[in-house]
Amino acid sequence: MPAETYLFPCLKDNFGVLIHDPGTGATAAIDAPEAAPVEAALQKTGWRLTDILVTHHHADHTAGIGELKAHHKCRVVAPRNEAQRIAHVDETVAEGDTVNVGGIEARVIETPGHTAGHISYFLPSDQLAFVGDTLFSIGCGRVIEGNPEMMWNSLLKLRALPDATRFYCGHEYTDANIRFAKTIEPHNKVLAARADEVAKLLASGKPTIPATIGAEKAANPFLRADNADLAQSLGLGGSPAWKVFAEIRERKNRF
Ligand SMILES: [Zn+2]
Repeated sequence: MPAETYLFPCLKDNFGVLIHDPGTGATAAIDAPEAAPVEAALQKTGWRLTDILVTHHHADHTAGIGELKAHHKCRVVAPRNEAQRIAHVDETVAEGDTVNVGGIEARVIETPGHTAGHISYFLPSDQLAFVGDTLFSIGCGRVIEGNPEMMWNSLLKLRALPDATRFYCGHEYTDANIRFAKTIEPHNKVLAARADEVAKLLASGKPTIPATIGAEKAANPFLRADNADLAQSLGLGGSPAWKVFAEIRERKNRF
């Protein structure tokens, strides 16, 4: 049976998301920015929280874990390389591991850069990905603990997922990301179409995610650092893609 998802806002601009296996009733929260909105989402769906799958240690992804675990006795799964920075962890996972949420199988992809141990979760049978603060729609996370080359390689791993993959990220940053992306590729028609779509979604109070990997490849400048025309336009023709990525990230930091 396909996994069901439930997306909801948390904190100022974080997303919370639940994944649910209708076959077994198992439900996982991807990260736990704060407990109350997760509890409200469980009430609304009638789902029972069995697991929390953590992408990285930042407080705006983990602050709700203690309260949720105390209430639901759920299992907490976290990235092995930074589990010591996350409270209440039951199991740690690394590249290639599989996490089962009832009958749902999630594959762990290490995507360091934003934090040193950041991981993403990919559900092959549903073509769903949960990418935390590594990839955003038309953007990417800040490179805080890693370096640009590491982050670029993480983005390449996500870009290699099937085009139809729908991904959920940690924040609603799409509008600001689009304004920046237009400064990098002002003539990108796919980006212009995405801008129209996002304006409509936001105007009607809807989230701009999930987005698909296929659509992002064509419009997200951070996934396009190995595009020769883009590199040329930044005065970096012939440079390694990670250096082009670093330049785009640097411009975004100043934007
Ligand atoms: Zn973060």
